Amino acid sequence: MLSWFENHVDFMRSVDTIDARRRSGEAHIATQEQVPGYCAVCDAMTTYVVRAGAFYDNSPNLREGLICRRCGLSNRNRLIYTALRARAAELPQADVAMLECLTPLFVALRRQLPQVLGSEYISDKHQSGQVYSYHGHPVRHESITQLSYADASLDLIGHCDVLEHVYDYRAALREVRRVLRPQGQMICTVPFFMTRHEEAVLARPRDDGSIEFFGKPEYHGDGLRPEGILTWHHFGWKLLADARAAGFAGAQIGLDYDLFCGFATNNHPSREYGLMYPLLFRAIA
Ligand SMILES: [Zn+2]
Repeated sequence: MLSWFENHVDFMRSVDTIDARRRSGEAHIATQEQVPGYCAVCDAMTTYVVRAGAFYDNSPNLREGLICRRCGLSNRNRLIYTALRARAAELPQADVAMLECLTPLFVALRRQLPQVLGSEYISDKHQSGQVYSYHGHPVRHESITQLSYADASLDLIGHCDVLEHVYDYRAALREVRRVLRPQGQMICTVPFFMTRHEEAVLARPRDDGSIEFFGKPEYHGDGLRPEGILTWHHFGWKLLADARAAGFAGAQIGLDYDLFCGFATNNHPSREYGLMYPLLFRAIA
């Protein structure tokens, strides 16, 4: 079950209580090819494929892994699916948008919420709201910093691991706030560094269009871009204050740790920097 937290202290108190069983449970799972469990998307018993191709040395990244054999969704995809489904159930006529559409997650969501609008970010040369041929499909382009949706026109907007790839993520938060109705919610996944407060800036764009790096460039895998996507930030708890500064009335981190449901951490070896619990970021307009 999702629990929502507004600060670091309450969150750490909660994860400290599960740390011992997390360590032993995940150490076991990490050595398996597949494990049985219950899929909240399928509402059925399933088998989870442990590895998805992302590793820390030889140990599998379980945030990208634990893929349900029935629906094909990963740990973090199933997590956001359940939160979006729960919110939409409270508002049966909700106007819902996802900032992706060429993914198994979107296919699963549309089965549950036929009204959901989908889009992809294609490039900064494309215009939000327009439909283009992309990877062989007609796809609506939307940029999170310049959405085509009207002011206060959506009740729920979801996105997965997008914000860390947007240099001006504060502009993205303001733009999402603009298109949400009062009480509307943004629910997203984002790599979250639970021991950080202020975000780490990994790189920044220079005026001449080049990029200044402050360390080794970090690229994340993306099914639609074989070259990967550049990561600008590692977020910490200040992200919640950034959301409030962008006009949201509230912001929270949601945690649902449940190994039987395939909601595990990413299995990163460092609890101090890099371990990520199965969590969501929610901002309420
Ligand atoms: Zn499933």
